[in-house]
Amino acid sequence: MPDKEYAVAIPAADEGAVRPWRKLLRGVDEAELGAMCCLGDWLEAGASYELSVGAVLVLCDPLPGGDQKRVRIWRVKTDGTIKEERDSTLGSRNAFGTSVRGTMRRLVGKHPARPGPVRQLTAAPARVNERADTCGLCRQPVAAREGILVRNARGYTEARHPVGQCPPAPPRTNDFPQECGTCGGWLEKGEGILYEAAPALPGPYGKALIKARHPQQCPPTEERVAPPPRANGRDQDCMLCGNLVPAGAGLLLRQGRGWEVRHLENQCPPAEELWEIQRGVPGRFHPRPERWAVAGTVLRSTLYDYRRPFPEDAPGFHRVGEGEVTAIVTTVRERRPEYCRGEDGNQPSELIGEDGWYFRILVRPATAEEAADILAEEDKQQRRAALSARRRQMFERGEDGEIPETADLSGAVQVDFGALRSLHQHWPDDELHVDEQAGVAWYLRYNGHDGDDWSLSNHGSFIARRVPLTEERARLVADLRAEYAQGGAGDASA
Ligand SMILES: [Zn+2]
Ligand SMILES: [Zn+2]
Ligand SMILES: [Zn+2]
Repeated sequence: MPDKEYAVAIPAADEGAVRPWRKLLRGVDEAELGAMCCLGDWLEAGASYELSVGAVLVLCDPLPGGDQKRVRIWRVKTDGTIKEERDSTLGSRNAFGTSVRGTMRRLVGKHPARPGPVRQLTAAPARVNERADTCGLCRQPVAAREGILVRNARGYTEARHPVGQCPPAPPRTNDFPQECGTCGGWLEKGEGILYEAAPALPGPYGKALIKARHPQQCPPTEERVAPPPRANGRDQDCMLCGNLVPAGAGLLLRQGRGWEVRHLENQCPPAEELWEIQRGVPGRFHPRPERWAVAGTVLRSTLYDYRRPFPEDAPGFHRVGEGEVTAIVTTVRERRPEYCRGEDGNQPSELIGEDGWYFRILVRPATAEEAADILAEEDKQQRRAALSARRRQMFERGEDGEIPETADLSGAVQVDFGALRSLHQHWPDDELHVDEQAGVAWYLRYNGHDGDDWSLSNHGSFIARRVPLTEERARLVADLRAEYAQGGAGDASA
């Protein structure tokens, strides 16, 4: 037969009690310190509940100052009245010490609480907050006696605004200066209020777009504050004239969704005498290169000079075609490198079919001094190419040559002609020997390859072809000696 149930009124807190509480006791957790050892259901002071015979109640009323706690332990008797098992006021440290726990354990053991939730019969009168506090719902201040005290989900009493009376959150002001999202006028820090300009999209990255606007109505157009000019933080090309604006010397301006830099009003310098060349370097996206070459690099390059003619007196200048020239140039600075992907379909001609970095380099004509080394090297290459052509024509193809049975080179001296041996060539170079006494020259071609007719060799593994040392040939020999004198035998720098 189930225990009889009675309506039990839970007493109000003692006058001045600090955070008092009441509980239907269901067990004692010995591992917990202090009041936390009481397991059971929170009961509101002033409310009434349906409780069964034997139910054990714990009432705790901490005294002001926090030093002492009054702890009462009640039991519902068979006739529905209350037996006060204990009423002790102890130091806060011992309020739930050995003695009180012993009483609670004994009573719960003898009268286990009926399982299931406790049924509340009448509500507790709302309690007002005696002290100013912070609302547990909206986190805004609640003045003393203007809110209510409510037990929150964790069992603690907290102050709240009366139900449904939390004031709307105050608008947040902008933390940094920006344009009004409504009228575009300038708002200094704290002058505007934040609002949701675009709602968050579903999904983890769809953050709402928060902007600032004027707190009340936006001012009329003529009273709007223009954004203060900001200086550019780093070197960048001027959007007006294309010249470089050193960091801090120009203006940073909003341009659509990005920022652009320009010189201060009317301070664009005359256009720089610079031309742009481009280079593509196939490769991976990482690491990001800073530039193609250090400023001041001297090189020969093709340039387009449709817009501004390239000076024709520049070192090494040749016109290649309409609007296209080649010359020795010096790099001045570079635009920011761009990464181009072949699949994007608008690949610069320097990177057709390949992913890589695209460099746009501003150059000027090299000075004569800067160009001297490159021009000298180019001259040398030209001179040597001409000598090679003469050599081939006079010694390798001369009509008056003959190939004797045996070749006697005992009186001949080898002449270096800068044979160009590639890294993959494993056979001897051709050789030129001159016998001035005999008035002949010998041109030796290697004939020791697989597939060569070795029986044709008349000087070791070479075929030695003899030609008369004509005046013209003697002049070429002198020219070869002059050209290759310092390089020694085998100057292969080509
Ligand atoms: Zn509130
Ligand atoms: Zn506005
Ligand atoms: Zn400018």
